[in-house]
Amino acid sequence: MNRPHAQHRPRKRFGQNFLHDSVIIDRITASVGPRVDQHLLEIGPGQGALTTSLIESGCQLDVVELDRDLIPGLLAAFSLSPRFKLHSADALKFDFASLLEDSEEGTTQQRLRVVGNLPYNISTPLIFKLLEDSAIIEDMHFMLQLEVVERLAAVPGNKNWGRLGIMAQYQCRVEHLFDVPPHAFHPQPKVQSAIVRLTPWQASPWPQCDASALRILVKSAFAHRRKTLRNNLKGIIDSTQLEALGIDPGARAESLELTQFIEITNAINV
Ligand code: SAH
Repeated sequence: MNRPHAQHRPRKRFGQNFLHDSVIIDRITASVGPRVDQHLLEIGPGQGALTTSLIESGCQLDVVELDRDLIPGLLAAFSLSPRFKLHSADALKFDFASLLEDSEEGTTQQRLRVVGNLPYNISTPLIFKLLEDSAIIEDMHFMLQLEVVERLAAVPGNKNWGRLGIMAQYQCRVEHLFDVPPHAFHPQPKVQSAIVRLTPWQASPWPQCDASALRILVKSAFAHRRKTLRNNLKGIIDSTQLEALGIDPGARAESLELTQFIEITNAINV
């Protein structure tokens, strides 16, 4: 049952909200600023709204699309572009490092520039997966639900400060670039959206620590937002040790700076 691409009905299951506002599309492309000597990866190209303008730069472009019904349309539109490669796959299971192995012969290995108007239901797990691959990534530009961008770019003491922001900021510079209203999409989502840029640190501004230990610690610290550190971190670190680090055991995780989470991680992980 092959439905023609032109009549593709947007699927909720795949988080499909297609961009159709050319001003927004141009603004995203300008923020990315793709160049001919770069290697881009687009996640969820859909009907090619962003793909069309990215490919104009002449860059090497890999795209990963889950919905098989969209594949014929993407091939028809872009397969004649010599530096375009389509992967009919689930981005959550995709081996991004394999794209570098496939890079054009004779060129030096280049880090990937990742772009995507991401399905809202997979955005958080996908960002966590990409953060694990941050060594092979130059930068990432995503369209996300505004609320998720606010969590990524949050500052300590704010109600949005938590696991996502802490892990993203430990590994990347996070920039909330601009907001996108629902009417830029078809169908219109119920929420506001925003564009965020994540740039993995080349020289980290933070003290070193084990990222997976930090992730586990932060998860525990925020397990119950209203509880104190003393309670949430029971069995992990005691009050005396927290005080020795200059941290009030009666404080909530929400009030701690990223450096303090790193200090706790290093204190328990010796
Ligand atoms: N980039 C397009 C489409 C955005 S909608 C535009 O801006 O118009 C989100 C896209 O992600 C859809 O094409 C959807 O099929 C695709 N998608 C959903 N889940 C995915 C996954 N796990 N892996 C890859 N693509 C996925």
